[in-house]
Amino acid sequence: MNSEYNESPAHKPTPSNPPIGEGLVTAQHCIPFPTYHPILSGIIAGLEPDEDLNMPDWADKYRKLPRESTHEYGDYRVKRTPYMHEPLMCLSPRSPVKNIVVVKPTQIGATDGLGNNFLLYTAHKKPRPCLTILPTVELARRHVKSKMDKSLAAMECMHGIIRDAHGGKKRDESILLKEFPGGFWMFLGANSASAARSVSICNLILDDVDGFVMELGDEGDPIDIIKKRTDAFSAIAKILLMSTPTTLETSRIWAEFLLTDQCYYYVPCPFCDHGQTLQLGGPDTDYGLKWKDNDPDTAQYLCEQCHTLIPEIHKTRMLEQGKWIPTNPKVKLSRGFQLSSFYSPYGWVSWSVMAKEFLDSYKEPRKLKVYYNTRLGLPFEERGQQPEWTLLKNRSEPYKYWYAPEHAGFVTAGVDVQRNRLAVVIKGWGRNEESWLIWWGEVFGDTTDTESTDVWDQLDGLISRPITHALGFELPVLCTAIDSSDNTHVVYNFVRKRSKYIAIKGQSQTGKPILGRPTKQDVNYKGCVIKDGVELWPVGTDTAKRTIYDRLEAETPAHGRIHFTLDAPDDYYRQLTAEKHVTRYDKFGFGHKEWFLPKHKRNEALDCEVYALAAAIKVGLLHMNWDNVYTHHKNLKERKIQESTTPIVPTAKPHNTRQRYPSKYMRR
Ligand SMILES: [Zn+2]
Repeated sequence: MNSEYNESPAHKPTPSNPPIGEGLVTAQHCIPFPTYHPILSGIIAGLEPDEDLNMPDWADKYRKLPRESTHEYGDYRVKRTPYMHEPLMCLSPRSPVKNIVVVKPTQIGATDGLGNNFLLYTAHKKPRPCLTILPTVELARRHVKSKMDKSLAAMECMHGIIRDAHGGKKRDESILLKEFPGGFWMFLGANSASAARSVSICNLILDDVDGFVMELGDEGDPIDIIKKRTDAFSAIAKILLMSTPTTLETSRIWAEFLLTDQCYYYVPCPFCDHGQTLQLGGPDTDYGLKWKDNDPDTAQYLCEQCHTLIPEIHKTRMLEQGKWIPTNPKVKLSRGFQLSSFYSPYGWVSWSVMAKEFLDSYKEPRKLKVYYNTRLGLPFEERGQQPEWTLLKNRSEPYKYWYAPEHAGFVTAGVDVQRNRLAVVIKGWGRNEESWLIWWGEVFGDTTDTESTDVWDQLDGLISRPITHALGFELPVLCTAIDSSDNTHVVYNFVRKRSKYIAIKGQSQTGKPILGRPTKQDVNYKGCVIKDGVELWPVGTDTAKRTIYDRLEAETPAHGRIHFTLDAPDDYYRQLTAEKHVTRYDKFGFGHKEWFLPKHKRNEALDCEVYALAAAIKVGLLHMNWDNVYTHHKNLKERKIQESTTPIVPTAKPHNTRQRYPSKYMRR
């Protein structure tokens, strides 16, 4: 008998197995060997008489739904939501499945049917450390109070097993903890997920993951942080992810679902027995939800095989006979289940409601998105602002790299720093903020190396390379902006010694100026104070990207037209348009615009364009006296200084904040 997959008998506290003591629970604290050891306890369990219940059978036998949380209180019946049977089997300890991903609409019974059954079963039958994460600690607290506490009270078999605890002597409000012999339930908000830093977890539930914060400060994605907590139990750990999806580009549950075997629930037609998934369809499809004369109360389902209208009364039987079919069967240990409200049990969300809500929402993208997410259980694809790169390429002009067309008055560069390379864009600027791409490319080398300056010397050589102006003379690069977000001190050291370079740092908040006021950075990487510290210039990346995208998309821009050389490769255009400017709606329906970069896409060309624009503003792009610049260029041509390296000194006041302050004399 494989002891690993056997159920242990009911676990009751005994004097030799006391409740766990105070203090932040860690795996070492709460699972004192040999009182509880996952493998050993499995072996012991194998020697004892065993009820041998898998999770669906356990739920049918023991689970009670509390009167306070549902009108269908009392005995839980898996049969009521038959689509839960398979995911529950995957959560059972004897199943080898490790990841269970559920993409769901609202009101399908997943939180109770999967998450809560999983926790209660574990405490009752297979004690293990469990962690549940909800989007915020407030939601976690509400969940414990309204669901878990009431379920415990309603289930006689759980009485005396679970006790409340809290992390640390000082009560930590961000940790909700319940202990039982051999394990615990911990509940956290995703915004305080780092509180689980020192805890080892066997059963992990991530509920409503599309509502999680994307980043936890500098620590990264909370989902990645938390998943690592199961490493110590990797052989038996289970991770359950559930959520209603959001937008296609940003939905995390959808991204996780795509990594699974991607199952859909097939139900048989009561008339022809043909198995099919239930879908919305459309006015022209010969399957799906249909209704007469705009009256949603007449809604029935049209079978895709025999084209008979199926009244909803058949739904219960169809659900009972349904089965999950994977569309990506080569994946074995990660199972994904997608559901819509079409499968909602009879008496919950009806097909008429599905039709009515569709009629109410289909004309308005915002409402339609809610319908897609909360009823169809599908991510919504938004158009979003994203210029079409092939259209830009078709607009390219017959001039070469390292050549500045006639109206390019001065040149700047933007540099994005990656670990193994520097991405560079060199741009010419003219009247009305018109601009020309002069060069795009990369220089390779270890940018983190504080000893070798090889890659930086290459950059210096590149930026010093002469640019031929259409009128015959040469233009220098007047200012180069280098991103200092990574390898900060290496960038500072490089910029410190060179007057035509500036260190910049992106600010992604909306409403920031493209180039803000600089601050002095006086400390090097060893923490020593440096004389004449570098100036760090903040760059409003959101504002700059919006400006660039508006200009790229405008067919005949009155201002700021961007020109491309025929020499620019496809990759430049792809990177320039890699990001999508999308609206994300929060749960209250408020839309927030944000930049979204699809996974595995590169966007350095866009970043470099932003920095080159910031450098142009530093030089004086917004206040330049263009008549003077162009007259100067004509004079240069007339004097036939073909090989001139004379810098074209702009006549506008450069962007220099010191000049904004009156002198002491003026203040008197
Ligand atoms: Zn049929």
